Amino acid sequence: MRGALGGPRVLLRRLREVMAEPVSAQDRLDKVVVLIAANMVAEVCSVYVLRVDGTLELYATEGLKREAVHETVLKADEGLVGLVASEANPINLSDAQNHPAFSFRPETGEEIYHSFLGVPVLRAGNTLGVLVVQNRARRTYTEEEEEALQTTAMVLAEMIASGELSSLARPGAEPVARHTIHVTGTSLSDGIALGHVVLHEPRVVITNVIADDVPRELKRLDAAIATLRADLDRMVEHRDVADGGEHRDVLEAYRMFSYDQGWLHRISEAVSTGLTAEAGAERVQSDTRARMLRASDPYLRDRLHDLDDLANRLMRVLMGQDHAPGKEQLPDNAIVVARSMGPAALLDYDRKKLRGLILEEGGPTSHVSIVARALGIPAVGEITNATGLVEPGDAVIVDGSTGHVHMRPPQDIEAAYGERVKLRARRQAQYRALRDQPCITKDGQKIALMINAGLTIDLPHLDETGAAGIGLFRTELQFMVADTLPRTGEQLALYRTVLDAADKRPVTFRTLDIGGDKVLPYMRNFEEENPALGWRAIRLGLDRPGLLRSQVRALLRAAGGRELRLMFPMIAMVEEFDKAKSLVEVELTHLRRHGHALPERVHIGTMLEVPSLLFQLDELLERVDFLSVGSNDLMQFLYAADRGNVRVSQRFDPLSAPVLRALKDIADKARKHGKPVALCGELASQPIGALALAIIGYRSLSLSPSAVGPVKALLLDLDCKKGEATILPCLEQPVGSVSIRHKLESFAAAEGLQL
Ligand code: PEP
Ligand code: MG
Repeated sequence: MRGALGGPRVLLRRLREVMAEPVSAQDRLDKVVVLIAANMVAEVCSVYVLRVDGTLELYATEGLKREAVHETVLKADEGLVGLVASEANPINLSDAQNHPAFSFRPETGEEIYHSFLGVPVLRAGNTLGVLVVQNRARRTYTEEEEEALQTTAMVLAEMIASGELSSLARPGAEPVARHTIHVTGTSLSDGIALGHVVLHEPRVVITNVIADDVPRELKRLDAAIATLRADLDRMVEHRDVADGGEHRDVLEAYRMFSYDQGWLHRISEAVSTGLTAEAGAERVQSDTRARMLRASDPYLRDRLHDLDDLANRLMRVLMGQDHAPGKEQLPDNAIVVARSMGPAALLDYDRKKLRGLILEEGGPTSHVSIVARALGIPAVGEITNATGLVEPGDAVIVDGSTGHVHMRPPQDIEAAYGERVKLRARRQAQYRALRDQPCITKDGQKIALMINAGLTIDLPHLDETGAAGIGLFRTELQFMVADTLPRTGEQLALYRTVLDAADKRPVTFRTLDIGGDKVLPYMRNFEEENPALGWRAIRLGLDRPGLLRSQVRALLRAAGGRELRLMFPMIAMVEEFDKAKSLVEVELTHLRRHGHALPERVHIGTMLEVPSLLFQLDELLERVDFLSVGSNDLMQFLYAADRGNVRVSQRFDPLSAPVLRALKDIADKARKHGKPVALCGELASQPIGALALAIIGYRSLSLSPSAVGPVKALLLDLDCKKGEATILPCLEQPVGSVSIRHKLESFAAAEGLQL
């Protein structure tokens, strides 16, 4: 390197000594800038630290006026320093003062310096500050010098991230690293959890950043790359399930990137400047992450994700760490933070210690969210760079009801949430006390409260809630959380386990409801303009009956000697029901012929989710043994509002005259035909929804397990007759506003019902 005293390796060695000295944070920083300036033959070396208020404060300088330290504060986008921070990219200029972004701060006395090299101080892709060198002469810093400065910035990143500099900050202007962060994502699973961060894929903690022997580090790097490639080859060939069961194309992408010359070159270059092999990999990973956070093109972002993962794998090989994170050392209140995660991986955590989940990706319908809900763990998704914003062991609060996440919360927030958790626990205890009490309203109406389920982990909820049975067993969940299509034997085993667990309590199995947003990763998906209106559920089942038939067979066999209740999703015309029912009869005949034990009785019903059925109710009710209203889908079709699109899904109130009139009509007609009707959509899980449903005549509701307590507490205090007298007239008369919600609320308030 031109003019440098001893080059970057000597600098790094000296920095290591300074880091170990027992001096104050300011003294250490001052020594660091002197060393860098001397080593790079620069007249100026300055460190700017990014603060919580988004500004950049000068923390140390060699060359600029000392009085400016802690006084000069730049706005986020101010000057070249601001540009380096916001773009997370180095800027290297021989004539900085002619750059349009140059801004002049007289207190620093920097007007005499022409050349400028600034690099971001990055950690896990987050900008923590900016490191700058300047020279009077118009010179261009070489690529090697730029590289060396970036390597040096890594050492500073460690220092800032350790929290050492916080003692130098004014209140409200602390370094952004290690500070409180409050972000809002998408709520995936309800509840509140306070705990400590566990990174699902732990960042490899690099203890040795500075190389003693660079040629040896380069050899270690080569050997590790060879091992990494061999591991990936083996995994692509065998699809190693122990490795989290990643999909083949993901592994193929990793394998391809492990040959990427640009990536390898960047790591070798970082190592050549004096880093250990693992620190070199980490530096390149941090740059990759910084680019990833700024990439808007989803394809590019995915590729950068792959490179990020690959760097992790490489670091693990170098540090001799097993790929799988050590789940055995889970803290008692573990909040798992991950970029994304499969459902099986979540189930691997010790349930007793797992308190919450934060994901960078993952929407409410993702499979891991389904499992989080089944486990009753609060979860929040779509938190950008969550894994980069926290360190293992950090305190964190997950509020699954609002989507808020507080990282390293201040005491008052922690105390407020602590109170809320206690309140919830007290309420839970009250609900538990009601567990064995039958659900009968004040005026003697018996209302069956069932639960919705779909996985074996849901089954303990039956006893915990004291539910009357399972009103909706979503069979597709077993398919959605599996890596490969579950065989008939596996389906049979699950259905038997469910019936055994339910014992005498009824279970209503719904046949596969796939398609739409419920995609199976191992099945070919068809691109559809409107998947919710597309080839899904029973439509798919009737057109390609193989899968449906084998499922029906598994259900019939599982229920040998007992009662079986099954229903079909998304029926839109009575003929579809007839066809689906005849398919069950064919399977029954087949099993009878082969001498299998048959169910004692088979009740065949249908979900009511498509509005066309509202106008075929008489014909339908003549055919079915029972009906179950799927209010989630019925609502989206009635109001033509996609249930997964928050812009429109909350635009219409389900507690409105048109919906309640339709629902009441269904209940009235079912009663007339002597056929049982239940409602199993989300509406029944909200106390106010359950109140409305009880008033319009529903006597069977299927709820999320966590809703059984609150709904039962409300119904026990309800006088249905009074409710009818108050609410039904609103449905019969022309209404000014279609929403009936406020009427229900004032009725509940007058009656002392807790919504
Ligand atoms: C519904 O549509 O209301 C329902 C219960 O089915 P799912 O939510 O599984 O689509
Ligand atoms: Mg549905």
